[in-house]
This record gives sequence, C-alpha cells and structure tokens, in this order.
Amino acid sequence: MTDLTRISHWIGGERVAGESGRSGPVYNPATGEQSGAVDFASVEEIDRAVAAAKAAFPAWRATSLSRKSEIYFRIRRLLDEHRDDIARLLTAEHGKVLSDALGEVARGLEVIEFACGIPHLLKGSFSEQASTGIDVYSIRQPLGVVAGITPFNFPAMVPMWMWGPALACGNTFVLKPSEKDPSASVFTAELLKEAGVPDGVFNVVHGDKVAVDRILEHPDIAAVSFVGSTPIARYIYETGTKHGKRVQALGGAKNHMIVLPDADLEMAADAAVSAAYGSAGERCMAISQVVAVGGVGDELVAAIKERLPKIKVGNGLDEGVEMGPLVTAAHRDKVAGYVEGASAQGATVVTDGRETAPEGDGFFLGVTLLDDVTPEMDAYRDEIFGPVLGVTRVETYEALTLVNENPYGNGTAIFTRDGGVARQFQFDVEAGMVGVNVPIPVPVAYYSFGGWKASLFGDTHIYGPEGINFYTRGKVVTSRWPDPATSKVDLGFPQTR
Ligand code: NAD
Repeated sequence: MTDLTRISHWIGGERVAGESGRSGPVYNPATGEQSGAVDFASVEEIDRAVAAAKAAFPAWRATSLSRKSEIYFRIRRLLDEHRDDIARLLTAEHGKVLSDALGEVARGLEVIEFACGIPHLLKGSFSEQASTGIDVYSIRQPLGVVAGITPFNFPAMVPMWMWGPALACGNTFVLKPSEKDPSASVFTAELLKEAGVPDGVFNVVHGDKVAVDRILEHPDIAAVSFVGSTPIARYIYETGTKHGKRVQALGGAKNHMIVLPDADLEMAADAAVSAAYGSAGERCMAISQVVAVGGVGDELVAAIKERLPKIKVGNGLDEGVEMGPLVTAAHRDKVAGYVEGASAQGATVVTDGRETAPEGDGFFLGVTLLDDVTPEMDAYRDEIFGPVLGVTRVETYEALTLVNENPYGNGTAIFTRDGGVARQFQFDVEAGMVGVNVPIPVPVAYYSFGGWKASLFGDTHIYGPEGINFYTRGKVVTSRWPDPATSKVDLGFPQTR
C-alpha cells in the first residue's frame, strides 16, 4: 500500500488537522487501494468552523458588490486555470473518467460565472410615491452562516452550486463534503483564499453523521443546502426545519426516458447509452429506465445492445476509457445484486455487466441492459445508481402514468418527432426537469435545478435565480422624508390613499 494522504479540515483560512481521533478511508476506485484517510469532525470542530464563519460574516456582508464581483472573476480564473488539477482529484477519488470530470468542473464553473453578475442579481425594486411623499423599496440581504452537505457523485460541481451563490450573496459558508471523495473541496478552499476570499468566509469540515447532526442543530447556522439520497434528504429537511433553519434538500431519482414510435431511434439509442452509463450511472440525472412505447421495443433494445460492447471500461486516467469504476466495493456489489434480483424476478438480462468487468481489484462493473422490466421489480422501484439500464414496454401514452406514479420526480425525457405530443408531455408530466429529445436536461446556470416529489424537500430549487432567493431574505422599506411644516402625529392604521 502507498502512503496514505491525510485529508484535513479547512477552518478560518487554513488547514486544520482533525483532533477527534476518528477518520474514514478514501479509495482509488480504479485500483481498489486505499489512498487517503479523511478526518471526521467532532461537535467541537464543527463549532469552531461555525464560529470562524460567524466572525467573518459582518465584514464579508459589508464588502461592496463591486469588490465581491471582482473576487468572483478571480475565482473564475483560478478554477479555469486549475480545471485539470481538480478533474484529476475527482478521477482519483470518485473514479469517473477524466473527460467526465472535466465536464463536471465546466458545469460548476457556469454557476460561478452566473455569480460574477451578483450586483445585477441583487437589485431590488423601487416604487416612488407609493403614497403621497412615501417611497417603497425592496432589498435582499444575506442570511448569515449557511451550510452545505454534499454527495459523492459530484464532489466539485455540487459544492459550487451551493457556495457559488451563497458567498456572492454575502453569506459565510461551512461545507461538509462527502467523506468518500473529499479532496476537491479543500483544494477549492485554497483557490478561494488565493482569489481574495477573506479567512473564515469559506470553511470545510469533513465527517459523518456526527458532523451533519451538529450542523443541523447549530443555533448559528441559518440555512442548510443538501444534495444526496432521498432518505437522508428527508431527514435533513425534517431535522433542519425543526431547528428553525431554511432548508433545501435534493434527493434521489429514477429518471424515465420515453421513446415514442415516431422517434429517431438511432438518436434515442445514442442518448440512452450516454445517459445511462456515463459516469457509471452515478448521476442523479442519469436515465435508468427507458419506456418503449407501441412496438418500438425490439428495434430500440437491439440498437442499444449493439452499442454496448464498444464502451471501454477501465481506469479513468487511461486514454480512450469511457466508463470508470463504481465508487466503493460495497456499492459495486449492491448494484450487481440488482442485476441478480431483476433476473430472478423475471427481467431479461440482455447484457450482463457482471461478466464484462475488467480484471483486478478496482470496483468495476460492466454495463448491464435489462429488458421486460416491470414496475413491481426492485430494479424498477429503487434508484440503483450504477451502470444498469432497464427497458419497460408499454402500448400507449400510459408511459406518462409510469412517470407520474413514480415517487421520484427529478428528470425525465421524451423522444419523439411530434411537437404536439412533446408539448402535451411537458404539460402533464410530474417532474422538475424535462428533456425533449435531450436525455439529461440539467438546466443551464441561469435557470434553477431541482426535482419534484421525493427528489426535493423544501420549496426552493438550487442555483440560478432560486439559489439567489434561497441565500437571501427580503426586506421592504417604506420611507418618508417629511416636510416639517406638515408633520403630525397620527394614531390610525397606515393607509396608502
Ligand atoms: P448520501 O445521502 O449517502 O450522502 C450525502 C451526504 O449525506 C454525505 O455528505 C454524507 O456524509 C451524508 N450522510 C450520509 N448518511 C448520513 C446520515 N445517516 N446522517 C447524516 N448525514 C448522512 O448520498 P451519496 O451516496 O453520497 O450520493 C448519491 C445520492 O445523491 C443518490 O441518491 C443521488 O441521486 C443523489 N443525488 C441527487 C442529486 C440531485 O440533484 N437531486 C444530485 C447528486 C446526487
């Protein structure tokens, strides 16, 4: 075994070695070797990070918008210059291939670019002469110390969805990244310092439930953003709101792609393959279920199957590799269990990824295609979060009912040449993000990202305009500059006419 890298907290503008005596293993999923150990924060260490963020808040809040914007342009430049370094950290700890890791950084950067325009985004409204001599205007102000708790599958981008708008709005931040791939967060903290973000404005604490629970209870944390699995999202929302916090908690998904008989099947097959197996299916917007409508099934399954042997699985740093390993051995085994279970429950295993995994100790699984999947099967009901694509065959537009009856409502897509049908689908479907001949409809940075139903707890989607709203609170000022000659005491209720 190689020497283990120790991954420590970042508090008050510097690395702080954990003192709790607890840590977790970090692996290189492509080799199966443990590469690092990440410190797990104690309650006291969380308190220390929150105290640093609280101390930094008044000055950061008072920093002018033009200065914040200037710092953001520097953050943008540094992240851009270090794209490759960040992507390599992601591949080393998450396993995704380098091109995909670079794509992750690029999508995160778009959120930072949006935040560069913070002076424009925080403009309020003004009503002159709302009543005689009275003006009314609205302003948005930061919340204070806010926290983010993030999942393993986008270790750079999802934190950027949170700290990007949060800091720009004038808040200070405590990030608790996934303990599985924590290095990118500390690297980002160094870049923020270099860009001129004052010490204490951005803090990173690593850990498990101990850290998360302290964040949820801490009286000085005003709001919590969470992205992760649905059971934990529900817990975060319930516990955080019980402690008086504003919470947005994004959960898991089961994204359906509906293919109608008139669709361009080559395009649909290409889309299904990239959306199901990209990043080894470990994306909350991955397509995990294709619904083949009205006899299109045979041709579509054949077209998808034909493409699968060409997908090169291996170490994400190697040239030409398109799909890497899963994040841990336990997760790989769990995903393989779904293939076993689907077969036992009557699905047809068209391509079995258990047979095509590369040799070695890495956490690999090949790609799996399941046909004749029905809604009662575990492989249909659960979010598998791996390189497994199921196909369900239906006769009619009842495909819509499948999506709407599903407990999740993150993303969905329809493939058709009929604009009227696509428009009706967009009108009827119960999901937060809809693609029309686009399999992974992740909104661009100037819209907001979020699902419906069990894919989101809370009212506010993440990043974009809703992100700005989440990280600020409104204040409306009614002002009068009285003419001393006409001022008088009036005990009546204020009226505007
Ligand atoms: P996870 O829920 O296991 O972990 C997310 C975070 O919660 C981590 O920081 C983890 O340390 C913490 N956590 C885990 N168990 C906890 C517990 N019992 N108490 C308190 N905190 C706990 O999720 P994951 O496995 O890291 O990520 C994959 C999941 O995230 C999938 O379900 C995926 O769909 C979802 N996800 C959703 C979105 C979205 O935008 N909706 C985006 C990315 C990932």
